[in-house]
Amino acid sequence: MMAAVAPTYRLGEFHSFDGGGHPFLYLVPAGAIFEMDDAVAAVIAELSAGAATHEELLARLTARGFPATDAEELIGELCQMRVIVSQDAVREPLEAPPADFPLQSLVMNLTNQCNLSCQYCYEFGEDKVATPEGKPKFMDLETAHASVDFLLAQSPGRKAVHITFFGGETLMNFPLLKQVVTYANAQAAAQGRTIDFSLTTNATLLTPAIIEFLSENRIGVTVSMDGPAELHDKLRVFANGQGSYDIIAPRVRALIEGHRTRPITARVTLTNGVTDVVRIFRHLKQDLGFHEVGFAPVTTASNRLYAIGERGMDGVLEQFHVLADEYLEYALRGEMHGFSNVSDTIAELYQGVNKSHPCGAGLGLMGVGPSGDIAPCHRFVDSDTHSLGNIRTGVDRERQADFLTRGNINSKYDCHTCWARPLCAGGCHHEAFVRYGDTGHPNLHYCDWVRDWTHTCLHIYGAISAQNPEFLEKFAERKAL
Ligand code: SF4
Ligand code: SF4
Repeated sequence: MMAAVAPTYRLGEFHSFDGGGHPFLYLVPAGAIFEMDDAVAAVIAELSAGAATHEELLARLTARGFPATDAEELIGELCQMRVIVSQDAVREPLEAPPADFPLQSLVMNLTNQCNLSCQYCYEFGEDKVATPEGKPKFMDLETAHASVDFLLAQSPGRKAVHITFFGGETLMNFPLLKQVVTYANAQAAAQGRTIDFSLTTNATLLTPAIIEFLSENRIGVTVSMDGPAELHDKLRVFANGQGSYDIIAPRVRALIEGHRTRPITARVTLTNGVTDVVRIFRHLKQDLGFHEVGFAPVTTASNRLYAIGERGMDGVLEQFHVLADEYLEYALRGEMHGFSNVSDTIAELYQGVNKSHPCGAGLGLMGVGPSGDIAPCHRFVDSDTHSLGNIRTGVDRERQADFLTRGNINSKYDCHTCWARPLCAGGCHHEAFVRYGDTGHPNLHYCDWVRDWTHTCLHIYGAISAQNPEFLEKFAERKAL
């Protein structure tokens, strides 16, 4: 019998950060956070200069004063957590979700019509992927009912599922939205299940009656809004070029005042010239009273006039840091600050997210357009190239499998050595298509930005977990779309 060869260890894949004066590790293969003590720091220090055999490592730790049995145990634990790995360990691919992964959320684009002409809109602008020609502009009741039935049928085992109403401008088809809520509630109740609703709107069509309906039915509302008038009106305009701020501001105030059952969120699209994040946040949070404000840079080809260049993105990051510092101060007092970009990432960290795909698109989430065509998400609705079937005939499993295989982190070789991959997983499929012509291409134009921002959120997470850990419990259920 041959004697077993003692393993040689090297450092595993992790990212170090500190929070509240405590050192932490972000364990990449597991997407887990781990607070380091002196013993772990000693092992890492010993292996930082290069690999060591089991015996060498043990000897070095005992020379540092650790009893041999403790050192042996520590090495075993760190191997299990993959803080250290054997020299010849290879990256293990993440397991792909099962082919019959149950649906969790359906985004219903009730209409592909909009009463605004925002120049950057992914649905109508220069980078649009939709091919709506010859298709209905408004969803009808039969398609809407079929969509609800589809969601319930495709989500076996889930007690609660989610419908997001979307457009075009969602409220241009408000009569249908009301009917869907009644129908969906009845169908879900008959199965002993529940449906949660939300919608995204430009707020131009909000009325007291609509606000009352949304509040009574606990429908979450996200308003697309880009800040104070001079920023918002740069691109969020009516067809005649007139800005929409003056129309929506009083409606938004009435919404926040009248909708009492769910927090109201603003979603800001950052574009060239609309990057004053702190000022926008102050206006939306303090002047208008939104409960949460989230920011996303415009999704576009890099040569568009409204695209934010690299310098602009650096400025955005600086301002994100300002709000992140404030967020931490609030969190340590036990208060929510309202900057969604931090909350969404903290939630993912708390839940130990380790993504095989950047988001749920085509997996637990699908979009359906007025024609009943199924898409990976709302941004691909009405696009023949990206259709995954039709609500009446079901999901085209071959196309779905192709979309998911290309979007899987295992297919994105550039990401395999990136420590931010458990959260990023290559980034939005739609953005990848607009930038690179392939939904499965990693969004390599913003990696440094993503890693910097993820590091910042890790730092905040670490500080909260060291100084006010109960605060993190708020994030057990939170999901971002
Ligand atoms: S796209 Fe960039 S930041 Fe995201 S996982 Fe891949 S390499 Fe990392
Ligand atoms: S991240 Fe991109 S692909 Fe995923 S749901 Fe959002 S818009 Fe769609």
